[in-house]
Parts: sequence; structure tokens; C-alpha cells
Amino acid sequence: MPQHAVIMGAGLAGSLMACYLARAGWRVDVYEGRPDPRSKGFIGGRSINLALSARGIDALAQVDLDQRVLRDATPMPGRMLHSKTGQLTFQPYSRDKKNVINSVSRGGLNITLLEAADEFDQVKLHFGQSCTEVNLREGIATLTDANDQASKTPECDLLIGADGAFSSVRKGMTLEPGFSHSVSYIDHGYKELEIPALANGAYAMDSDALHIWPHGESMMIALPNQDGTFTCTLFWPWDGPISFNAIQKAEDVQPLFQQHFQDAVPLMPDLTEQYMENPTSCLQTIRCGPWNFGDKVVLIGDSAHAIVPFFGQGMNAAFEDCKVLMRHLDTSESIAVAIDGFYQEQKPNAEAIADLALRNFIEMRDTVRSPIFKIKKRCERVLHYLSKGRYQSLYEMVSFTTIPYAEVCQRDQRRQRILLTT
Ligand code: FAD
Repeated sequence: MPQHAVIMGAGLAGSLMACYLARAGWRVDVYEGRPDPRSKGFIGGRSINLALSARGIDALAQVDLDQRVLRDATPMPGRMLHSKTGQLTFQPYSRDKKNVINSVSRGGLNITLLEAADEFDQVKLHFGQSCTEVNLREGIATLTDANDQASKTPECDLLIGADGAFSSVRKGMTLEPGFSHSVSYIDHGYKELEIPALANGAYAMDSDALHIWPHGESMMIALPNQDGTFTCTLFWPWDGPISFNAIQKAEDVQPLFQQHFQDAVPLMPDLTEQYMENPTSCLQTIRCGPWNFGDKVVLIGDSAHAIVPFFGQGMNAAFEDCKVLMRHLDTSESIAVAIDGFYQEQKPNAEAIADLALRNFIEMRDTVRSPIFKIKKRCERVLHYLSKGRYQSLYEMVSFTTIPYAEVCQRDQRRQRILLTT
């Protein structure tokens, strides 16, 4: 098998894929539109921290990066629910105390992965180089340099589009007959806010949990960072009485927050400034296919399947793509067969997690508050205990196993059918 890959995008999937390929002996050129975050600082734009769980950790472990990443992670064994009046309820994610999700900094994680990729002689990282066009038949991307606008068209045996939800490589595919593509937005947007550390550097809330203010249409979550801060993500509809459009001026911020996130307000002394200054972004699900073109081009991560963040699985799924693609490249007789096998295997999984993520929004913002949900969770923990760990809830199968997402869905549907008939 020929062994030179060009990866478009040095984000989470692109930098991990570079490590996989380099370990397998490939020569890899990674092109990234942004400047090098190791020298210029991380230019985020999306979620400051992320929940890393079993399948992401497993994909990192295959290239010995799990411990390096987990060293800088904050474990979250459960969710802490905040009522409108500030009453707290802790719900563990699993009866098994080993089962935790991990809060990691996006910037820190990206830098760790870039450093790991850069340790291989055969990996070359190129920053400030944006893909502006692709020739799918030749597997060649046109790159434009951010400094002098010069363009180049590096040749390779395999072009991997890891350039995120607004992928240029995918854009090239949309012009091809037979390529299907949809982008659907939900009625909610998101905005990030920060809860600072206390004066003594301690956390202002319990750091052993993912905090949720689940108030129906209005939801906020907060994940701990290692420096004592929390990053909150506010999910609000665009329109309506409680919505981003309901706040037109600085004076509108405090009353709405007092009404919904009473106990969080005193923890954010500069709430109004943050709210007015921080951007508001939209949330989308991207479904497309096929992700592969001929024997030259393939999409991975968000470029193939961006999902809403309510199951905390987008990055985990992107890391799993790297593992599965490498397995196909290692075991197939040609690149064409490998990238087609990768697509056939991962497409049903991407569809499944996209649906589950949309469904989990309802659970996170609404169902978690209901007494029936609490009873169901208690029953699941009892079943888990009685079956000596063989019974796993939907959340556990998604977050604490590497059972393919599509199979997780099938198992869950079977259970629902049994429950309905008993
Ligand atoms: P990205 O991380 O977007 O990387 C793409 C890279 O390509 C970027 O570096 C970009 O600069 C570069 N690029 C883009 N266009 C070009 C171009 N034309 N030329 C060259 N380079 C280009 N996932 C989880 O698993 N857990 C979570 O808790 C979680 N929380 C989230 C919260 C929010 C609010 C959001 C929006 C997402 C969340 N996700 C989470 C999803 C996660 O962020 C993505 O799934 C993940 O970043 C996908 O990685 P990627 O490498 O495919 O894309």
C-alpha cells in the first residue's frame, strides 16, 4: 500500500490521525488553516472544554496517548442538578465508580496531540495553510498560505478531510453526483460563560461533577477546568420569552439569569459583561455520504458527521474514526477498499449517535428532573448490581464502552420493546 497521506485540518481528529498513520510507517503532511497553537495560543471558537469518555480514551490508548491526555483531565463521576432555587441533587453516571467522564481542555488536548504527532520524523505540520479547493479524482487539495496568499497543490496517495463541520473537502464532494448531504440546525444556540475560581484558587462548586441547570427550554451546563474555573455553556432558544433574542441590552441579563440560574449568578461577578461580549453560536447535525471518493479521498470526524453536543460524543466519535480507519488501512488490500470499508462500518454508527445526541437534549434539559427518571435510574443501578455489571444503561453503553453506537441503539430499542410488553 502506498504510504503518503495529506491530512486537511490539525484539529482533534487530524492530529490524532497523523499519529496513527506515522506509527504505521506512513509519511504524513498535515495542513491547518489557523496559526500554530503551540506558539500563537489556541484560537478556539468552540467549546473550551470537552467530555472525554471510553471510546475516545480507547482510541488514544491504541497510540499510547491516553495517559498523557488523562493527566490533564478532571474526572466527573456524575451530574449535579441545580434546581431554579439552587437545590442540588447528585446523580452518578454509573454504579461502577470507575466509570467517569473526563473534562479536558480543547486547546490543551489539541496541543498534546500536535506535540505527539510532531515527535514523528515522518510527520510535517504546516500552519496558516487553508484548503480552498479539492480535485477529488487526483486526491489533490489546493492550499492557500495565510501570509502571502501563495497556493500549492501537494500530491499524496490519500487525502483525509479532517477539517471540521465546515469542511472544504466535503464541500468539494457536494458537487459530485450521488453524494448526499444535509445540515439541520436545532432551535437552540449556545454561549459560553466562565465561573472563575475563588480568591484562594479553589473551585466555586463541586468539581467532581458535570453541573446541569435543567429548566426545560432553558438549560445551562458547567464543566470544571484544571485551573479552578468552570466553563458554562448556556443553551437557549433563539426566540421566545427565555431566549437569546429576549436579551437586547445589558440590563436584561441579570433578571433572566436570576429567574433561571439563581445560584450561579453570585458565582459570575462579571456575568453581564461576559454575556454581552461572548459570541452566540448555532448547533447543527451534518449527515452526508459517501465519505470516501475513489481511492484517494476520505472524510473523518466532524467533516463527515458533526452532531449536537448533548451526549458529549462528537470528539469521541472523531477519535474512534481514526482507530477504525487505521484498522481498515492496515488490513485491506488497497486504499479504495480500506476507505470504503471504513465508511460502511462507521456510517451507521454516525447516524446512531447523531440521533442519540438529539434525543439526549430532551433528557438533559427536562427528563432528568422528573421523579420517574430518578426511579428509572435507581432501577438501572439495581439491575446493574444484580446482573454483576452485565446490565448497562444507555448512557453507560455510550459513554463507558466501545460497543458500536448502532448496536447500542439496537440493544436499547430491544429493551424498550420488552419493557412495553411487560
Ligand atoms: P475540529 O476540532 O473542528 O477540527 C477541524 C480543524 O480543521 C480545525 O483546526 C480547523 O481550523 C481546521 N480547518 C477547517 N477548515 C480548514 C481548511 N479549509 N483548511 C485547513 N484547515 C481547516 N465532543 C465530545 O466528545 N465531548 C464533548 O463534551 C463535546 N462538547 C462540545 C460542545 C460544544 C458546544 C460543541 C460545539 C461541540 C462539542 N463536542 C464535544 C464536539 C467536538 O467539539 C467535535 O466533535 C470535535 O472537535 C471534532 O473534531 P474534528 O477534528 O473533526 O474537528
